[in-house]
Order: sequence, then structure tokens, then C-alpha cells
Amino acid sequence: MKCPYCGSLDSKVNDSRSSDAGDVIRRRRECLDCQKRFTTFERVEETPITVIKKDDGREPFNRQKLLDGLRRATVKRHVSNDQIESIVTDLEAELRNQFKYEVTSKKLGDMVLVRLRKLDKVAYVRFASVHREFQDVDEFTSELNKLTPASRKKTRKRSK
Ligand SMILES: [Zn+2]
Repeated sequence: MKCPYCGSLDSKVNDSRSSDAGDVIRRRRECLDCQKRFTTFERVEETPITVIKKDDGREPFNRQKLLDGLRRATVKRHVSNDQIESIVTDLEAELRNQFKYEVTSKKLGDMVLVRLRKLDKVAYVRFASVHREFQDVDEFTSELNKLTPASRKKTRKRSK
């Protein structure tokens, strides 16, 4: 943690205590270079992640929406709910770890694909098809049907 007085990155923690509710931890630090003391607060990450869409519109990162997309891509595949959940959790953690609170929908889709590819090739291709956003719904539906002839009846058209 950077010292607010001299900018040094070396400090030690002299004392740390949590708030009564337990949602904030306060640490008293001492700079190892200038010996001045300062306080830092630690709390659960609440900064929302914003997704920048193709048309430049913005929307909050929606975990549920991503889960739904993954469930559609993995219909009748041997991919468990847990695996789907962990893809999304992992991806969100990666963004937060890099302090990236804005991500393009393209990048987000790519991040899903990297993970899906390791898991299931068919689901990967299905998701990639949606991600590339076919020009019209019919094109997408026929693409999907080629992959899963057995589930043709259940293929729902995707509206935008
Ligand atoms: Zn200092």
C-alpha cells in the first residue's frame, strides 16, 4: 500500500481491527521509509462492472444473463451447473483482480469462450455462434440445428 506521505510501497501493519458489524477492516500502517503512520480500510468489493455493448451502449454486468447464455449453449451436454457457475465466477474474479470495471461485450464473450473450449467443444461452438451474432435469427437457428438435430423442437428463437 502506497504511503500517502512519501509514496513508498513498503509499509507494515501495526494494528488491524474490524468494525462491529464485521464488514470493514481497518489497518494502522507504518511506512518503512518515512515512518509516518496511515490507515487503510478493507471492505468487500462493491464496484459494479459495466459491459460496453457493440453499439457503445452500457449495461451493468449481469451474472444471470451470462449464466442463461451458458445454459443455452450447454443444453444436453455433459456440463454441470457447477461448472457453468464456476466459469462465471472465475471470469468475474479475473476482471476484478485486474481492476477492470469496464469490459466490452466482445472481450467478455472471448473470456467465456476460452473457458468453454476446455470444457466442451459443442458448447463452445454454440456459444461462439451466438457471440459472433449472426445477422438474422434464422441463420443462427439453422446453425444451432446443424449442431443439435435432436433438440430441434426445443430450439427457441432468440429475439433481440
Ligand atoms: Zn512514507
